[in-house]
Amino acid sequence: MGPLIELKNIQMIFENRSSLFAQKRRVQAIESVDMEIKEGQIYALVGESGCGKTTLGKIICGLLKPSEEGVYFNGKNVWRLRGKEFTDYRRSVQLVHQDSYAALNPARTIFQSLSAPLFRYKIAKNRNEAYEHLEELFEMVGLTPAEQFLYKYPHQLSGGQRQRILLARALSIKPKLIVADEPVSMVDVSLRISLLNLMLDMNEKFGISFVYITHDLATARYIAANGNIAVMYLGKIVEYGQLDNVLSKPRHPYLQALLSAVPIPNPKIARSMKPLPLKSLDMPDPTNPPSGCRFHPRCPYGEERCSREVPELAAVEEDRFVACHLVEKIPEWKWGQ
Ligand code: SF4
Repeated sequence: MGPLIELKNIQMIFENRSSLFAQKRRVQAIESVDMEIKEGQIYALVGESGCGKTTLGKIICGLLKPSEEGVYFNGKNVWRLRGKEFTDYRRSVQLVHQDSYAALNPARTIFQSLSAPLFRYKIAKNRNEAYEHLEELFEMVGLTPAEQFLYKYPHQLSGGQRQRILLARALSIKPKLIVADEPVSMVDVSLRISLLNLMLDMNEKFGISFVYITHDLATARYIAANGNIAVMYLGKIVEYGQLDNVLSKPRHPYLQALLSAVPIPNPKIARSMKPLPLKSLDMPDPTNPPSGCRFHPRCPYGEERCSREVPELAAVEEDRFVACHLVEKIPEWKWGQ
């Protein structure tokens, strides 16, 4: 069976003119991204703020049109789909936002917000059917009794409850893929595990694929333990592969630097760890990204060639890809070294 979603050479350029006489500023938010998303799989999309991961998530959901090449749903370019095929794509690929408050209409009750897509996609014919459907879903996401939540407004609920409601909304129209953009970053730490477990349950019970977008490697490791990870830096995927394999033996210097910065609970080990000696701690300006390898101004291993030639994402072993000219020479990185 082919992939559910295929991204082919995705490029995304934003143009911005700040005043009438100012020059246009171009930001290449995504450059040459290829990726396949299969049914029932979990993918973690990881990187620092501003690396383009949210933009890529919106492109997958069809909320942003890439500047070049395209997104394929069951082998068909989504920007050429019409009628029933386009509705099927829209229904199958859902986005769960980071900011649960902004994602819900503050002037509508939860029932009003969540019943609308049920009527639109003809899952419910009337209010009673919509109520029964939502009651079942609320039980699934741990919001019981449902009537205590359905007739409230978003501001009357906690962040964790709203995030569960967003998951219930995505689930209500029977999607095949949920793109979850930092879904636990704005909820209490104590509630994070229960939300991550909820997504894992959805994956197991209904075979829903997830693209989990985050800057937090710990939650990525938890949710995509049996899945894949794509690490992004300044609009490009720099390392991709099975999560356990990638995080236990990171090959790209940027991923090694990210892992070196993860706090470790054992202070003895934490003190003995040497951070990767990056040449600079600052992210380059995305409106004027570095030539060649975008990581070269910070990379401790870079050579002259790195500032001239763009490294391609190339296979280093089966199902493992790294974008680095010198990948075979980069020293091995180990946890706690
Ligand atoms: Fe570092 Fe060069 Fe590899 Fe880029 S291509 S990550 S600069 S070694």
